[in-house]
Amino acid sequence: MQNQQNQIETIRMPSIIRETIKIFRQRGKTVGLVPTMGALHNGHLALVRRSSIENDATIVSIFVNPLQFGANEDFAKYPRNISDDKDKLKEIGNVVLFMPDDMLMYPKGYSTYIDIGEIGTRLCGKYRPGHFNGVATVVCKLLNLIKPDRAYFGLKDYQQIVIIKKLVNELNMDIDILTAQTVREYDGLAMSSRNAYLNSEERKDAQLIYKALKTVETQLLDKSITPADVQSLMESTLRTGSHVKEIQYASIFDHETLIDISTSNVNNYKGKKVLLAAAVIIGSTRLIDNLLIEL
Ligand code: AMP
Repeated sequence: MQNQQNQIETIRMPSIIRETIKIFRQRGKTVGLVPTMGALHNGHLALVRRSSIENDATIVSIFVNPLQFGANEDFAKYPRNISDDKDKLKEIGNVVLFMPDDMLMYPKGYSTYIDIGEIGTRLCGKYRPGHFNGVATVVCKLLNLIKPDRAYFGLKDYQQIVIIKKLVNELNMDIDILTAQTVREYDGLAMSSRNAYLNSEERKDAQLIYKALKTVETQLLDKSITPADVQSLMESTLRTGSHVKEIQYASIFDHETLIDISTSNVNNYKGKKVLLAAAVIIGSTRLIDNLLIEL
């Protein structure tokens, strides 16, 4: 009995989540959605807690979306810890877990996809072709299915937020997209389900990503460097790690268009927000991080 009371309500069928939401609506409840791929950590849980405070009911989805993984990426080995995830969610009130199977989301013959356009080809999109169209498609499906009042996303995946806001705006969805700060480990490394792939030596080098971002932030703000110096300073910090195998990008970007502004006139960005962002392969693990700063 005790055990059963502690179970979190888990729904696998899209038709049943739809019915559940209908009942919430009939009772006048507001609904928040936190889409995830599971292997939950404190970054995810901060979003869930916030939704649980701001809404009467929160749906957490766990779905490792095959559409957003490239052929040579980590779809098969992506960490899946459903029992741990449920334990973590049980601690937070008013949460329903939606955990559909691939075949329920993309049944045989499925053929409708979102093309988010050029913004999805910048930054990570350059190295993960099709990734953001896959993200946009699954998020669109989840938003249509659940029709939340609010959906919550982490700033750690900054480009994802830009893309989802664009999707919601351009498809006229009446849903508030809310964002939350990146939750970090003690040494600044952004929490990520993929950090579990790192061995102890790689884990030490992983802290260089945040170090590089903070070093550049400090020097930009005290004006000892300009945007033109950002790339080389970040790269030289990152290259001190012997397990840093590839720096895919490490630069300064317009926070709306995501265009690299390292060669732009710094005066054009005075008093404006800019994005410092990096994607780095450490060992064989691809990690990303960013800082939004005001020049
Ligand atoms: P994922 O399971 O990696 O797809 O992430 C699900 C949601 O959690 C996304 O909105 C992410 O941006 C967010 N998220 C992941 N890591 C963090 C973090 N360290 N801090 C805050 N949000 C995060």
